[in-house]
Amino acid sequence: MRIGLIDVDGHNFPNIPLMKLSAWHKRNGDSVEWYKPLFHGFPNEPLDKVYMSKVFSFTPDYPYYINAREISKGGSGYCIEWMGGKEIYHIENDIKLAKEIETIYPDYSIYYEKMPEIRDTAYGFLTRGCPRCCNFCHVASKEGKCSVKVADLDTFWQGQKNIVLLDPNITACKDWKELFHQLIDSKAWIDFSQGIDIRLMTEEKAELITQMKIKNVHFAWDKYEDKDIVIPKFKMFQEISGYDHRKMTVYILCNFNTTFEQDLDRVYTIRALGYNPYVMLYNKKNIPQGDKLKHLQRWVNNRIIFRTCGKFEDFDYKKA
Ligand code: SF4
Repeated sequence: MRIGLIDVDGHNFPNIPLMKLSAWHKRNGDSVEWYKPLFHGFPNEPLDKVYMSKVFSFTPDYPYYINAREISKGGSGYCIEWMGGKEIYHIENDIKLAKEIETIYPDYSIYYEKMPEIRDTAYGFLTRGCPRCCNFCHVASKEGKCSVKVADLDTFWQGQKNIVLLDPNITACKDWKELFHQLIDSKAWIDFSQGIDIRLMTEEKAELITQMKIKNVHFAWDKYEDKDIVIPKFKMFQEISGYDHRKMTVYILCNFNTTFEQDLDRVYTIRALGYNPYVMLYNKKNIPQGDKLKHLQRWVNNRIIFRTCGKFEDFDYKKA
């Protein structure tokens, strides 16, 4: 069979399902190539099957005619829809990979040309699901309300220098310790790209995280009402790790259900605890230009400005 692939978002991140589909088809003797409208379109012979994968719902769909006998669409971009500022999950559009494809070692080579750095990096999930059910996040409805182990590290890692994990909440998984030891033993640079749930931090977890090779560890403080839980956890992690703001980032979700005063309080608190805050704006496209939330984001997320200008009221956004 002749198989075509379309990475609809085409962002600077490899599409894991497409890499697994490529590996599976190649193992079965099929030829796999990126779909190119000029090269594969009419009047050329149609491809036998084209897979389209889309990660983000806000990305426009593929605009060109697809010359194929069969087309299969998958990914969060096709099953999550934004309506009235909320994410709606369409289960009927959520196409899951068969287990034999989900567990295959990804064919990273399809991205060698587009992203040469991928030769040194492995991408994947050790766990899926999250028990938190945050209103602004689709993970619990899409992947389940429990964080469960879905793979061992060697499913998608074969000695690369870097490992990028996409797990939504690995610390909520009952097998976290075994997985952390796999990450320590890899001696690779670990990037928990989706962050670590600080509310579930323990001294034992912190000790093991500091045994990993980590350039920067990310946390989130999304709900203001978690203040009394997260502050002692942040203090404990900082004391055990000895890291400072250059190595610890905390995402702060604004424009969801907090006041501006609560946003500022989180920013100042995080900085005082020795971490680097990073403002994330919920539903950003609906925030008017000139709104102080956008100024807050510009002040906080520019590390040089944030470290030299101590107070938000002293920040001159017109000069920034
Ligand atoms: S903790 Fe993170 S992954 Fe889990 S539901 Fe909330 S935002 Fe999503």
